[in-house]
Amino acid sequence: MTDRQRIAVLGATGSIGDSTLAILAAHRDDFEVYALSGYQRLDKLLQLCQKFKPSRVCVPLDKVDEFAAKLMQAGLATEVIGGIAGLDDMASDSAVDTVVAAIVGAAGLPSTLAAARAGKRILLANKEALVMAGQVLISLVKTHGATLLPIDSEHNAIFQCLPPSIQQDNSQIHQPYHGVRKLWLTASGGPFLHHSFEHMQQAGVAEAIKHPNWSMGQKISVDSATMMNKGLELIEACHLFDLSEDKINVVIHPQSIIHSMVEYSDGSFLAQLGSPDMKTPIAHALSYPKRIDSGAQPLDLFALSALEFIAPDLQKFACLRLARQAMQAGTQATNVLNAANEIAVAAFLQQRIRLTDIAAINEQTLNQVVVPALASDASIEDILAIDQAARRYAETVVAQLA
Ligand code: NAD
Ligand code: MG
Repeated sequence: MTDRQRIAVLGATGSIGDSTLAILAAHRDDFEVYALSGYQRLDKLLQLCQKFKPSRVCVPLDKVDEFAAKLMQAGLATEVIGGIAGLDDMASDSAVDTVVAAIVGAAGLPSTLAAARAGKRILLANKEALVMAGQVLISLVKTHGATLLPIDSEHNAIFQCLPPSIQQDNSQIHQPYHGVRKLWLTASGGPFLHHSFEHMQQAGVAEAIKHPNWSMGQKISVDSATMMNKGLELIEACHLFDLSEDKINVVIHPQSIIHSMVEYSDGSFLAQLGSPDMKTPIAHALSYPKRIDSGAQPLDLFALSALEFIAPDLQKFACLRLARQAMQAGTQATNVLNAANEIAVAAFLQQRIRLTDIAAINEQTLNQVVVPALASDASIEDILAIDQAARRYAETVVAQLA
């Protein structure tokens, strides 16, 4: 049991946290659950502490004492730390080998950067970190010898379809020798694929977050309904695979069986297929380059109906167009877009605006908030200053619409 990989799961109480811990529980000889973080559902975090007995746990700063008392009552020796500094500390802890970055939204950025700076193996679910600060994160990973493994299913699929030399060094993707022509990101199209824009306008929260194929947290479920999620993933793919946005196509594939593809110059398309279950990409990244049983249902090929491929409607799903526009402008613009979207999604979940207002808020914020370009050695303060400026502006647009 000595050379078990020590894991810190940041965002342990969420949907990705659930899938990750299910795998870790099934492979206790290979992995040690060393640290966990939670933010809201602290009862659930307490249960996870009882089950996995981590060495450290991180909760919001104002909950540290209360949570420590509960752990003590439960007879656990887990150390409790708190807040953003606690997350940074956990992500860079010298005892940790692997950080699962599964906090949702901008809140996940600082700890992901800390993990990169500490040279960790990072399993990245928090796509917003790359959207806010793409080259900053990639440059920290390279400078500090960290390893970035995507667990977003599409990016994990593309990673699996690339040769090992590109997996190890993304700049190799430009070698004509490898013949990578394009990446194809597949999208389910979300719950409104076959509905009109007018239907989307009237949709409530329950309908918007009811994803046809995947069970996920609320924010990413709304992002899937507007296809902002695919826009964020397009930006994520540009940074992970060192490609400009015009080299990445988006295709709607409602069955979510092909998780993405790489197109090669000889006409080959390599795809990764599987049941729509996040345990597959997470297990792949946890054990890479080995393979382990993820616990996901194997794909039943004989039970599959036809696989469909549809071009996305960029008028209905304007967020996808905005993501390309922002990526062309630079990371400061993708940062603005991400911040606007987080504000708009929160306002929709609070039933202050309509679902279709999200794209309008994102577009207005993207076009109106002018910020300086972000250098690849930008500080976290620089990155967050842009995020905050965009949030303030987006709030005013929400207030006008609400
Ligand atoms: P979720 O809402 O289910 O869980 C989010 C986690 O983040 C929770 O543990 C929560 O406590 C924590 N958190 C929230 N706000 C926080 C804050 N301010 N400070 C510290 N912690 C905070 O979300 P999820 O669906 O698990 O998604 C997590 C990330 O993974 C997102 O970036 C999402 O885009 C990405 N992702 C998710 C899926 C999926 O299937 N769920 C797939 C691909 C990528
Ligand atoms: Mg995805």
